[in-house]
Amino acid sequence: MAILYADDPADAAAWAVAMGALAPGLELRFWPDWGAAGDIDFAIVGGRAPGDLRVFPNLKAIQSTWAGVNHLLADHNLPLDRPLARMVDQGLTVSMTEFVVLHVLDSAREGPRLRAAQRSRQWLDLDPVPPRTVTVAVLGLGTLGADAGTRLAGLGFDVRGWSRSRKDIAGIRSFTGADGLGECLSGARILVCLLPLTEDTRGILGAAAFAPLAEGAVLIHAARGLHLVEADLLAALESGRISRAILDVFATEPLPADHPFWTHPGVTVTPHVAAITRPGTGAADILENYRRALAGEALINQVDRAKGY
Ligand code: NAP
Repeated sequence: MAILYADDPADAAAWAVAMGALAPGLELRFWPDWGAAGDIDFAIVGGRAPGDLRVFPNLKAIQSTWAGVNHLLADHNLPLDRPLARMVDQGLTVSMTEFVVLHVLDSAREGPRLRAAQRSRQWLDLDPVPPRTVTVAVLGLGTLGADAGTRLAGLGFDVRGWSRSRKDIAGIRSFTGADGLGECLSGARILVCLLPLTEDTRGILGAAAFAPLAEGAVLIHAARGLHLVEADLLAALESGRISRAILDVFATEPLPADHPFWTHPGVTVTPHVAAITRPGTGAADILENYRRALAGEALINQVDRAKGY
């Protein structure tokens, strides 16, 4: 019995330490040195294509160290009949909330205008706007969207959220469905995307979503690159519908050197660093899922393949 680590080799040592500290006798093997294929009963995968996991006849379950699993669900080398769990990790949630709050506050407090004014030695006498006058629409009210939205509501922002199922979260107005999306976006000054990438959400950040926003709205996108219709964003920046976009994720990663986002004055590029899973906080749930997989129990945060997240 052994766990196969098939995630990023650069992080292998940190995961081995974190898991070894919690389960000293655990046998962890590292791709591609798995020994006898029949020994492997659990696999840890992440952002990279893990290779063919169908060669392990006794594999009980697969654990992602990433919260988003769209790339894994599309990977034909992952056995479809084994349960797949996505990562929910307090460290990851906290860092995503930091990312969102950082950019919401910077936008609400006119950070870009103040920095530009400093560059031209201009004393720009701006009164801060009260947060309650700034509507933030959060698409996706799951683990990450709910946490970020709750923090923003705590800071006084007018927070709306959109999800498949209606939510009852203090300080957040909940919207669902196609009509609800329009209402959620209507007049919003800041749009935050924290949706999973599925067939239903691909391309959702396009002209139709931008049209109801307040003039000069800000987009904070930290979900997946293919949510965004890049040409529509460039057009919305050109027209002034959107004044600024903070983008952490891209259709092609790394973002190609000649991509217009790198140099666009209205775009801030961050290289898919909004939030990462920390082995120190993520290892416990992985080990619990290993136990559940061996016992034939449902996993924590098991992916619903029909829903795609
Ligand atoms: P989650 O807990 O599964 O939440 C997903 C949310 O999206 C849920 O509220 C869900 O609604 C909603 N949703 C899904 N499909 C929808 C649809 N068709 N219409 C309306 N709402 C829909 O996921 P999470 O842990 O918060 O993570 C969200 C995403 O963040 C990940 O999938 C990944 O793409 C991205 N991410 C990015 C980074 C980064 O570093 N940039 C790091 C981690 C994650 P219900 O609640 O009703 O199901």
